[in-house]
Amino acid sequence: MENALKVRDIAAWLEAWAPPHLAESYDNVGLLVGSPNAKINKVLVSLDCTEEVVAEAEREGCELIVSHHPVIFRGLKAINGSNDVERTVMRAIKSGIALYAIHTNLDNVMTGVNSHLASLLGCTPESLRILRPLGAKLEKWTVFVPREHTHAVRDAMAESGAGHIGKYDYCSFATEGTGTFRAQEGANPFVGNQGEIHQEQETRLEMIVPGEAVSSVRQAMLAAHPYEEVAFDRVALENGRVDFGAGMVGELPEPMAWEAFADHVKKVLGGQGLKHTAPVKSHVQRIAMCGGSGAFLIGDAARVGADVYLTSDVKYHEYFGALGSFQLLDVGHYESEWQTSTLIANKINEKFPKFAVHLSTTKTNPVTYR
Ligand SMILES: [Zn+2]
Repeated sequence: MENALKVRDIAAWLEAWAPPHLAESYDNVGLLVGSPNAKINKVLVSLDCTEEVVAEAEREGCELIVSHHPVIFRGLKAINGSNDVERTVMRAIKSGIALYAIHTNLDNVMTGVNSHLASLLGCTPESLRILRPLGAKLEKWTVFVPREHTHAVRDAMAESGAGHIGKYDYCSFATEGTGTFRAQEGANPFVGNQGEIHQEQETRLEMIVPGEAVSSVRQAMLAAHPYEEVAFDRVALENGRVDFGAGMVGELPEPMAWEAFADHVKKVLGGQGLKHTAPVKSHVQRIAMCGGSGAFLIGDAARVGADVYLTSDVKYHEYFGALGSFQLLDVGHYESEWQTSTLIANKINEKFPKFAVHLSTTKTNPVTYR
């Protein structure tokens, strides 16, 4: 029954999409307030979690708020209502509303904040690449498998997280050969007899294993492998991972006049003003972007030959880093990310189509223009 969901069901689904270990070290993601076992009938999704948003959840009968920005970010030493964060947390606890944050872990996945931004801007899906790949831990495993068990072991490894390269899965390489072994006293060999040197037609199976999947792949591989003692090598790779990381770069289907692109940005992201460096390119096609504070990626935007780098929270001196190479465009933090709540709501609905998801209508942007 979908109306008997628990907080942990939503959390598990969101974490399969944006694993918490991909969050930046300074961040604070996951379930911040409430019990994972609390039953929920309705969830509210928003960019920020403020006292007003908690009030909206109360009115709408939502027992869970999923926000992109974590309300508790730097930690709390007291909860006595002396600032907006404490008041928000107090009110949520009092009203029995759980608070969950999916922040930089959602920034760092391929189908997260930035691919959503790229699609709003009109970049083609096949052109999208991570702007600064995370370079997370990657291993190459070589496993020796009796030939007729190769498919079973490969499938078990692929299903538990091995063999993902970019947009492909089940990536493996197999070479045929002959293995030898002699079972000693006390052994219970799958083939061959104790004390005899046995020759077996084996496959040398190679697959990529990401750091976070090491234990699940190991478990699945050993379970699917028929041998008592499995011979396998784990080698740490220097290759970075290209499917996780910060920012994104994509291409518009056609070059677009700069002025038309800037108007388009204002139209789709809202806001009353764009701050940008003097135009270097009269027409733009390669668009780098990072929702939220993305000045740390200005050098990466130059490296990939972007015509525009769209982000927010750019400081005065940081604009100098883009002069003469591309248009650096600050659209505002709220403007760059407010539609992330639609992305999260759609993701929840994808798994739980009949579950009630309320998209917040509270305008949380603390910045106004005149
Ligand atoms: Zn943000």
